[in-house]
Amino acid sequence: MCEKIVDFVRDVFRTKDFIPLHAPRFAGNESRYVQETINSTFVSSVGAFVDDFERKLSEYSGVERAVAVVNGTAALHVALKLSNVDVGDLVITQALTFVATCNAIRYCGADPVFIDVDKDTLGLSAGAVQLWLSENAVIEDGLCIHKLTRKVIRACVPMHTFGHPADLDGLVSVCAQWGIILIEDAAESLGSFYKGKHTGSFGLLAALSFNGNKIITTGGGGALLTNLELGSKAKHLTTTAKRAHPYEYFHDELAYNYRMPNINAALGCAQMEVLDDYIEKKRHLAKLYKEFFVDTEYVFFDEPLNCRSNFWLNAIICENEDHRNELLKYTNNHGVMTRPIWVLMNKLPMFSSCLCGDLKNSEWLEERVVNIPSSVLTEV
Ligand SMILES: *Cc1c(COP(=O)(O)O)cnc(C)c1O
Repeated sequence: MCEKIVDFVRDVFRTKDFIPLHAPRFAGNESRYVQETINSTFVSSVGAFVDDFERKLSEYSGVERAVAVVNGTAALHVALKLSNVDVGDLVITQALTFVATCNAIRYCGADPVFIDVDKDTLGLSAGAVQLWLSENAVIEDGLCIHKLTRKVIRACVPMHTFGHPADLDGLVSVCAQWGIILIEDAAESLGSFYKGKHTGSFGLLAALSFNGNKIITTGGGGALLTNLELGSKAKHLTTTAKRAHPYEYFHDELAYNYRMPNINAALGCAQMEVLDDYIEKKRHLAKLYKEFFVDTEYVFFDEPLNCRSNFWLNAIICENEDHRNELLKYTNNHGVMTRPIWVLMNKLPMFSSCLCGDLKNSEWLEERVVNIPSSVLTEV
C-alpha cells in the first residue's frame, strides 16, 4: 500500500523528483511588487504595501482591523498581551498544536492548560473545556479562577489545525459563560470558513501566519485580526509605542519592534491576489486524496460539518502507531515527504509540568495522524 501511495502522489504532482510537504508558489505579481519596494528604497518600516496588505486581510476575513507583524508567534504574543494575559495567569489551549501557541503564552509569563481536541475537527473541544472548567474553576468577581492554585484563567486559544475550523459556536459559548477571552490561533486557516464566517473573526483577537510553509507566504510574517480599538493598540504595541509626532521620539510604554517590513508586505499583497485560486486547487487536491483513500486502511481527514476548509495540509489517519511508522519510513525513503502530527505539548520539557485535562483524543491522534504532500498544484 505504501508503494501505491508514493505512486499516486508522484502521479498527482507529475514528478519523479523529491516532493515536499508544502512548497510556496510565486506565479503572480510577487517579483513586480518586491522590485517596486527595492526601486523606491522603501523596503523596511515605511511603505504603502503594509497598509494595503492589512486592508486586504481585514476585507477578506471580515474583521474591522488587521495589523501585519513579523511572524505568527509575534501576533499571538501581542494578542495575549492585549487580552491582559500576565505573569501567573493561566491560558487554556490544546495539547495537540504547534509549539508557537504555547511559547507565546509563556512569553507573557503565563502557563498553558492543556485540554483535549475533538476527533472530528482536530481543534480544541468545547465540551472538554466546559468539563474541565466545571470541575476545576469558579467565577469570582467576574474572573474565572482556578480553584486549586487561585490563578486567573484569562484566555482560551483554540487552534484551527491544518486549516480545519474548530467548534467555534461551542467555544464562543463556553468562553462567554466563564468570562474568558477567546483568541483564535488561525495561523493555518487563512481562507477557512465556519458557517460562512472566516476563522479568526470569532474571537476578540486572532493570529495569522505567513511563514514559508503556510497557504500564502510573505517569507516570514503574521497578522493580528481584531476590532478597531484593539487594532490601534496592536499597531502601537508592535511599533515601539512611539507617539505620533513630526520629529520627537517619545515612547509611552514598553513595546515591541514587531512591524512587518514593506518588502514582505509586497509579497503578501501579490499572494492575496491568488489566495482564492490556491484554495480551489487545494480543495481539488483534497478531493483526489479523499477518493484515493476510500477503501484503504487509511482514513482521509475531511473538513468538519458546516465548514469550508482551506485544506492547508492534507492529513490521513493510520490504524495504529506501527502502521503510521511504516508509512513515514517508506514515503520519506522514497522522496515523498510526509510528517507525523506534533508531539503533544505536555510532553515537551518546558511544558511538562503544566495542568492538563483528559487527553485521550489528542493521544489517539498523536499516534496516527500523518500529513501528506499538499502544495498548490501547478496544473489541474
Ligand atoms: C505556523 C504556526 C504558528 C506560528 O507562526 P510563525 O509565523 O512561524 O511564527 C503558530 N501557530 C500555529 C498553529 C502555526 O501552525
